[in-house]
Amino acid sequence: MRDVNLELGGLLLDMAAVAGESQRGWGYKRAAKAVLRIDQQITPLIEANTLRAVSGIGPTTDRIARELVIDGHSAFVEAAIHDAGQDEAIASLRALRRHFLSRAAVKEIIGRRGSPSRQKYRGDFQMHSVWSDGAETLESIVEACLARGHGCAGITDHSYGLPVAGGMTMAQVAEQHAEIDALNRRFKGRFRMFKGIEANIRQDGTVDMEPHELRQFEFVVASPHSLLRKSTDQTSRMTGAVSQPGVCILGHPQGRRFNVRPGVSADWDRVFEIAAKRQVAIEIDGSWDRQDVHYELAARALEHGCLFALDSDAHSQSELDFIDIAIAHARLAGIPQARIVNYWTEKKFLDWAKGSWDR
Ligand SMILES: [Zn+2]
Repeated sequence: MRDVNLELGGLLLDMAAVAGESQRGWGYKRAAKAVLRIDQQITPLIEANTLRAVSGIGPTTDRIARELVIDGHSAFVEAAIHDAGQDEAIASLRALRRHFLSRAAVKEIIGRRGSPSRQKYRGDFQMHSVWSDGAETLESIVEACLARGHGCAGITDHSYGLPVAGGMTMAQVAEQHAEIDALNRRFKGRFRMFKGIEANIRQDGTVDMEPHELRQFEFVVASPHSLLRKSTDQTSRMTGAVSQPGVCILGHPQGRRFNVRPGVSADWDRVFEIAAKRQVAIEIDGSWDRQDVHYELAARALEHGCLFALDSDAHSQSELDFIDIAIAHARLAGIPQARIVNYWTEKKFLDWAKGSWDR
């Protein structure tokens, strides 16, 4: 599937990189953001000559878009890169934008009939509240999830090993759990909040919490937050994480960021093989600049027999909508709904999560 909006956003980021820290550079960045946020494909807008009516789109963007749609590439951008002597730098930057989806592409994929379904999605298993680095209280998260038709959610604030993200001490965890219990009593029959944690994967593949601490949660997401720009092989770090008892979900496995960093380099087939054996779910993190794992890696994980979790990694109410991005990647990867924990009943989810200690 061609994603012209993503291609155009990428070309504008190329121009931003060529322009550097300057007024023009910032202008291109703003235009790229605008393009990536448009919720319809730009090709018909170009054909109808209405792209410039979109806020944030100026004459240069319009010119680049026109070249892209009509010629399949932009001679203007290619010449600018070449004249600046930045061919190599831009080529490596482009590698940091592969297998992402623009908002328009997500909307189109989600809009088709198909599976996994948006309507039957029961709840999201990675999100952050004011207990770590999120903006919302637990109560406001319940309201926002109910408004989206969800029946449950897993709260996964950061662990104490990640103080930079406001990780919770175990004393704070106890307080948070009391608040979750109270909410679950209040919303009984309508909504169930699960007690989760996002533990941090250390360099040696262990997570940053003790087993007796991990056991205080109903489920554990383990994710990498360091060494995400290194090209050295980190297979043993990631196989270590999915081998650890108690780990249920491998969160944003790559740790990549759009246009910023490549994330962990590893033999993913080996990681997926072990994850499948231990029934550790591979996360498709829908956070816009993560999209991690992406559809191609997800398809490989599926071949190995993996389970999946489609999560928003939201830090605010509006970011809960990032699940659409995760669902879009899952659809492209052809993942059957039955293999995705977000569609399971409460009992099935909890039995699976508990089983992570014994598999
Ligand atoms: Zn994380």
